[in-house]
Amino acid sequence: MKFGGTSVADTDRIRNVALHVKREVDAGHEVAVVVSAMAGATNQLVDWCEAALKERRIFDAREYDAVVATGEQVTAGLLAITLQDLDINARSWQGWQLPILTSNAHASARILEINGAELIQRFKERHEVAVISGFQGVHKETGRITTLGRGGSDTSAVAIAAAIRADRCDIYTDVDGVYTTDPRVVPRARRLDKIAFEEMLELASLGAKVMQVRSVELGMVHNVRIFVRSSFDPPGSIDPHGTPPGTLICDEEEIVEQQVVTGIAFSRDEAQISVREVQDKPGVAAAIFGPLAEASINVDMIVQNVSPDGKTTDLTFTVPAADYQRSRDVLEKARGAIGYARLDGATDVAKISVIGIGMRSHAGVAAQAFRALADRAINIRAITTSEIKFSLLIDTAFTELAVRTLHALYGLDKPTP
Ligand code: ADP
Ligand code: ASP
Ligand code: MG
Repeated sequence: MKFGGTSVADTDRIRNVALHVKREVDAGHEVAVVVSAMAGATNQLVDWCEAALKERRIFDAREYDAVVATGEQVTAGLLAITLQDLDINARSWQGWQLPILTSNAHASARILEINGAELIQRFKERHEVAVISGFQGVHKETGRITTLGRGGSDTSAVAIAAAIRADRCDIYTDVDGVYTTDPRVVPRARRLDKIAFEEMLELASLGAKVMQVRSVELGMVHNVRIFVRSSFDPPGSIDPHGTPPGTLICDEEEIVEQQVVTGIAFSRDEAQISVREVQDKPGVAAAIFGPLAEASINVDMIVQNVSPDGKTTDLTFTVPAADYQRSRDVLEKARGAIGYARLDGATDVAKISVIGIGMRSHAGVAAQAFRALADRAINIRAITTSEIKFSLLIDTAFTELAVRTLHALYGLDKPTP
């Protein structure tokens, strides 16, 4: 059972969580719980790190981790106290105590190994609930505390579920499942009963923050059944042996009624860079994207035109908005090696992505979107496609209109009551 930030926002909510846990324990289940920091706590910790810095531009990621990992320690202890208050045997665990061994990539570490034996033994011998701090681990060699990147408690939960070979990994959050798009933006979004790992992976990596991308990746590799559900459903009203409302993330074979389009994701954290009048010759793309890769900048959509005269052309691509200035700096520095007339850029752009396994076998899905957006006078700046998704870059101001238009176009709106 994993509970996110809003679900543990204060001690009343933590008690509510404890009652969800109690229900499962009373039903005879052996339970490991993973908790996030209380809502807003991680943001506060990140702000403090930034405020502490005056002279340098970036902080030591090891110390950043030492600070931001503390949010989860508080909730794990508080939930253990609350469970004990309900006469449930419970013990809290920090990442370094289990241990959850990770790579050295501070602030975005990868889980390498978790030993679940101790937890399993305690289930058997003491009927003890394990309450584990999400988001954190410990570097395999240095022993220093690491964190898994924002939203990383989802990944902790799926990794622990795999390590203890859990029957299920329930992700309790502030919505009752995975929707066709963010229900906060599109009230007519529908909850999906099931979604395939691959589709969830695309949704998550293209902007839907309901699950961290790596958690879905892990679930897919280790075949963990992930069930997304609400922590706000009253704990007592739920039958622990029944099927509560929620979304199962599973293998595509398990989904009988496959839609062409399953969901729409969007991200406003994009920036566009156009390199004008570059030489149209071998090696130019390498000269541009090589230095960006060396600077660990993730380039996403890439559009290059064929030059009319075989001499120069324009090359446009997107980077995370946070890396916009750095990307420009890198390209300015490499200007001599690349050879271009000028750089243009925009940060007021958004990426809208349409996802569905059914696209593999249906033609013309994207063409419908182009028509619908044109009818609303929304200009498309760039397009990319892959087997089960396509993404469109548009002006940020049109994000909601575009998402709602496409949501209706592909029949995802829930029927009007
Ligand atoms: P938690 O704190 O429990 O980890 P998050 O805030 O990380 O919760 O994720 C839940 C939020 O994800 C929801 O409140 C919702 O606004 C957002 N979200 C974005 N896209 C979707 C989607 N397709 N389905 C459900 N929720 C979504
Ligand atoms: N507390 C961390 C964050 O806010 C991890 C998580 O909630 O999943 O990013
Ligand atoms: Mg989250």
